[in-house]
Amino acid sequence: MSCPFCDIRDQKEPAFVILDEEHCMAILDNKPKTEGHILVIPKIHCEHFSELDEQSAVAMMQMASKITKKLKLSELTTDGFNLFLTEGKAGGQQVPHAHLHVIPRVLHDGIRLSCLKKSFYQRAKKNRGFDRFWSDYE
Ligand SMILES: [Zn+2]
Repeated sequence: MSCPFCDIRDQKEPAFVILDEEHCMAILDNKPKTEGHILVIPKIHCEHFSELDEQSAVAMMQMASKITKKLKLSELTTDGFNLFLTEGKAGGQQVPHAHLHVIPRVLHDGIRLSCLKKSFYQRAKKNRGFDRFWSDYE
């Protein structure tokens, strides 16, 4: 099955490449939510971020950090950022290749991230199982 991000990596599909490094690359999102919306993509094909090798995961965050620093120095008006990652159908993932959105924000730009409902927070407050899971994981 073809993967759109692997096709971009392999230069089979066009993209505006911002950065291209050993473990990941950054491209302009072709459906930007704001001006300068960038996707950071690991070069290795991996559908889910949680299954990605640690080196690629760290490289993604390092690249996102570089991008936010460069955007702050650019002519683009930027008051802040959202870093956004989706995983799986329940998480809203649309492309089956892990990727991190870097979304520049401007104060009062009218964009709302409303994917988490209040009921989630109410359940999370009551959820002691997560505490147990996390201590087992560590
Ligand atoms: Zn892929």
